[in-house]
Amino acid sequence: MLRAAREFVMKPGFHTRFRLTLRPLLSKVLEPRVNRSNGNGMRIDLHVHTTASDGLLDPGALVRAVTEAGVQVFGLADHDTVDAIPETLALAEAAGLQCVPGIEISAYWGAIEFHILGYYIDPAEGTLTTFLQGTRKARHTRMRAMLSRLGAMGIPIPEAEVLAAARNGNVGRPHLARVLVEHGVVDGVDEAFERYLGAGRPAYVPRPDVTVAQAISVIHGAGGLAVVAHPGLQNRDDAFPDLLAAGLDGIEVYHPKHNYGLVSRYRRLAGRHQLLITGGSDFHGVPDGDHASMLGRPCLHEADFLKLAEAIRSRRETAK
Ligand code: AMP
Ligand code: FE
Ligand code: FE
Ligand code: ZN
Repeated sequence: MLRAAREFVMKPGFHTRFRLTLRPLLSKVLEPRVNRSNGNGMRIDLHVHTTASDGLLDPGALVRAVTEAGVQVFGLADHDTVDAIPETLALAEAAGLQCVPGIEISAYWGAIEFHILGYYIDPAEGTLTTFLQGTRKARHTRMRAMLSRLGAMGIPIPEAEVLAAARNGNVGRPHLARVLVEHGVVDGVDEAFERYLGAGRPAYVPRPDVTVAQAISVIHGAGGLAVVAHPGLQNRDDAFPDLLAAGLDGIEVYHPKHNYGLVSRYRRLAGRHQLLITGGSDFHGVPDGDHASMLGRPCLHEADFLKLAEAIRSRRETAK
């Protein structure tokens, strides 16, 4: 069944055809199903990436991996792109999985980089599409700036190699990190971030062209719910007043980098401000190193997912 679906989407003409069928499929996923018959609850992982951004698995391989991991609901959250949504929705549907269409937008609060997740977005919405064309360009410009910094440090890396590593997807630091490993400049991706690419490291170039308020507004404009990703990594809870003022809907409480203390801190914060709670593995398909994670670990409680589903339903009702 899954193979048939894959072959179907690989056929030429699928993408034009898909544009015609995206609407009904989208309206289906915008009515989240929750299988209450399963006494053990569902495995829900709302944070996964594909090759459309810096993940290593394409939609087909991802859907297979999700099935194998025993995850029934997954949220697609590629960095600054919705390109994988149509194909992934179709493949998930064929495999009997539920895919929540989403995105993870890189944004800045002052000089601090935050990631804002958008769930149940309409990937074809006009303002979002224009916004993403802009960020795609900005990512290229920033990559070039990072490459010239590396060049000045005596590490010449051809831009074409980094773009090839991104395979037409949205280029980012992980792609550059992989090329640095290939060139033998560093032993691993983690070392590339630690020595060169991480915030404040010598080849790091910020991209403060998008503010957190803008990211939230774009997500709302596309009909989605805006959730701050892994706030424990930023560790700047003083950003919350501004995030709340911009209309933040939820907090990603469960994340591989959130220990028990952070989970309880953000659960309390969510409760205090009546925010939704989400979570997932931030799966990139990377097998080892600091950034490796396993699908469904951690996963989101079904009760929290139900609230998210309720919130999108009532938002759509009031929008009618
Ligand atoms: P960019 O989107 O270009 O700003 O790159 C940021 C992305 O790099 C993050 O969202 C992560 O997916 C990834 N990343 C951050 N730190 C590491 C690390 N130590 N190892 C591998 N990937 C990382
Ligand atoms: Fe990433
Ligand atoms: Fe992130
Ligand atoms: Zn992520």
